[in-house]
Amino acid sequence: MPANGRHPSAQAVTINENPYLVDCGEGTQMQLMQYKVKTARIDHIFISHLHGDHYLGLLPLIDSYVLTNRTKPLHIFGPQLLQEVVEAHHKVSTQRFQLPFKLLFYATNPHHTGVIFENNDVCVSTLPMKHGLECTGFLFRQKQVLRNMITEKIQQYQIPYTAIPAIKKGADFITMQGSVIPNSELTYLPTAGSYAYCSDTAYNEALVPHITKVDVLYHESTYLSDLQELAAERGHATAIDAARIAHAAGAGRLYLGHFSSRYKKLDKYLHEAQPFFAQTYLATEGLVIDVVPEKHVK
Ligand SMILES: [Zn+2]
Ligand SMILES: [Zn+2]
Repeated sequence: MPANGRHPSAQAVTINENPYLVDCGEGTQMQLMQYKVKTARIDHIFISHLHGDHYLGLLPLIDSYVLTNRTKPLHIFGPQLLQEVVEAHHKVSTQRFQLPFKLLFYATNPHHTGVIFENNDVCVSTLPMKHGLECTGFLFRQKQVLRNMITEKIQQYQIPYTAIPAIKKGADFITMQGSVIPNSELTYLPTAGSYAYCSDTAYNEALVPHITKVDVLYHESTYLSDLQELAAERGHATAIDAARIAHAAGAGRLYLGHFSSRYKKLDKYLHEAQPFFAQTYLATEGLVIDVVPEKHVK
């Protein structure tokens, strides 16, 4: 339930300036607008499973693409039945079947996890989740890395924002006075990052070998330890479960999410998880994180 100011699951994973949408719960479009994620740039959507809190925002998002005359293809990765749901909606709402853009579906299979998508920037694999319904998580491994600007240099050389995309691709900068500032002075090469999205799942040790040494792990923690039994019964995890998985995998950082509406305050999640995994944080609405922290800068 949307409660306590919290929203159902949806995350944008931005790689080389392209957003990949992971899950699309009710109200996702409004959240994308509020947090200034460019929906028109989304070409790939990954849906973990068909519980409403993970996909009910997808139909209106596709409707908006129709209304804004989208022409480029949209690639959707998710459970087989998702295609039927989307196509049935489109059929009854427009009385026709032809969309103005191509909608391409790729069925996930929780029993055979592995690479499901790859391009020059990223390789995405499915991860096995242990949930009542067929469910997969997603692991993003960045491939090609753009150089990052050293922020102080923008001011120092008064670099206009229009020049930044080219500099990130390796160009030098020429000042108003004609001096050439070499790219190596303006940028650094960050390490390629990895990000694992694990929602929804009960505690599942079988997940660990798939996410070993991941930079950032997002792991659901619906409940606190007072409801450990209920968590296991309902195919969900507690904060301690998530922290134990992060520890076993040697993850860089852990972000907890998918909090039960019964808990108004979230600080207890950190109190329970941090003794098991110190680098634990809360994935709250609108949070933006860099998957590769500054300390990894070469
Ligand atoms: Zn679920
Ligand atoms: Zn859920």
